[in-house]
Amino acid sequence: MARIVVKFGGTSVASVERIRQAARHVKREVDAGHEVIVVVSAMSGKTNELVGWVNEASPMHDAREYDAVVASGEQVTAGLMAIVLSEMGIQSRSFSGWQVPIRTDGAHGAARITEIDPTELNKRLEDGWVPVITGFQGISPNGRVTTLGRGGSDTSAVAVAAAVKADRCDIYTDVDGVYTTDPRIVPKAQRLTRISFEEMLEMASLGAKVLMIRSVEMAMAYKVPLLVRSSFDDPDAPQVAPDGTPGVPGTLVCDEDEIVEKQIVSGVTLAKAEAKITLRDVKDNPGVAAAIFGTLADQGIIVDMIVQNIADDGATTDITFTVPDSEYDKAVKTLQNAGDRIEYARLSGSKGGAKVSVVGVGMRSHAGVASSMFKALADKGINIQLITTSEIKTSVLIDEQYAELAVRALHTYYGLDKKDA
Ligand code: ADP
Ligand code: ASP
Ligand code: MG
Repeated sequence: MARIVVKFGGTSVASVERIRQAARHVKREVDAGHEVIVVVSAMSGKTNELVGWVNEASPMHDAREYDAVVASGEQVTAGLMAIVLSEMGIQSRSFSGWQVPIRTDGAHGAARITEIDPTELNKRLEDGWVPVITGFQGISPNGRVTTLGRGGSDTSAVAVAAAVKADRCDIYTDVDGVYTTDPRIVPKAQRLTRISFEEMLEMASLGAKVLMIRSVEMAMAYKVPLLVRSSFDDPDAPQVAPDGTPGVPGTLVCDEDEIVEKQIVSGVTLAKAEAKITLRDVKDNPGVAAAIFGTLADQGIIVDMIVQNIADDGATTDITFTVPDSEYDKAVKTLQNAGDRIEYARLSGSKGGAKVSVVGVGMRSHAGVASSMFKALADKGINIQLITTSEIKTSVLIDEQYAELAVRALHTYYGLDKKDA
């Protein structure tokens, strides 16, 4: 008998009919003798609608009321899931975040889970119940409803799994696993049977939205094996593991040493809407980078790629960095208003960049991945504007109009295309 937390994303609970299908997956696990906790997202599109209403009511709204409104989508699906499970003869009840309780800090709209009290959940499981928990939300130290940031239900599920010491956390979504790249962009993408936590973390950070970044960080820290699988699969079909053995279908996100065949490149990711800002002839004194990026951080602007170039005279430097397109105007204004704190000659920039990255643990032991990536892009006539690397990834910033072409070219170049496609 295993203890499993199962999470259903928006498309998997998009209607009562879909909730019924999801519930059949739960029933299969219960019938197999497992203890199951369910975590649900809001119906797909619901959170966007709620965010839209809040902004319509007032663009300058109170973040605590934003959370009160947008957390409501999950309450609907949790209640409906509990009703459907009960109708199937499974003892079930819904829990809102505060009822568990799932405690978070007070950062409304982007709260971090600080503690989950497992007492009530453990008791319910021992008594044969299936608790259904609202994803995406918790309760702040002041007793207010908080939300965890978009895509946050993944994080709720992993946090609950860690708290109740579950054997596994199954993430049911609208694709049947983690692919070498977004299958909606590259139909030749292949499902990975296994991927390491580290690679998944890079892929999530670099734009693969199949799992929220924080959920992967948490799974890695608490060693919760994650299984990404499809709620669209027939719940009554025989369960076959990614490697073909009896088990469960999908992609297992696990420790690197559980992966036998290590790929040099496991995946290609794409993040659009990246803006580039360049400060020219910045006075090259100690503390200058701290002043620039400190000023931006104070405004809550998240900077991604950074490149600095020393000029020949040794007295000035050019600094280029990227921010999300949505933050571009704010970042430019912030720098222009920084006054004497930051001395530079000129500021230039543009929106509409795309960051394309290749990820793989095999890069640690293989030279030349970056250069082969640049060559593959050059062969397609794609110009590279910025480059950053880490131990297991290389990222480039290119013009957004070439984004899909670049992803497809790299996917083919590294031999990731499905053989029969
Ligand atoms: P959910 O609502 O279930 O949380 P999401 O929309 O958040 O689902 O995430 C699933 C989507 O992630 C897929 O439909 C797919 O388009 C996208 N995706 C992006 N990159 C990948 C990838 N490498 N592998 C699988 N899916 C990916
Ligand atoms: N419903 C929330 C969102 O759309 C949380 C989630 O789906 O994970 O962002
Ligand atoms: Mg999601």
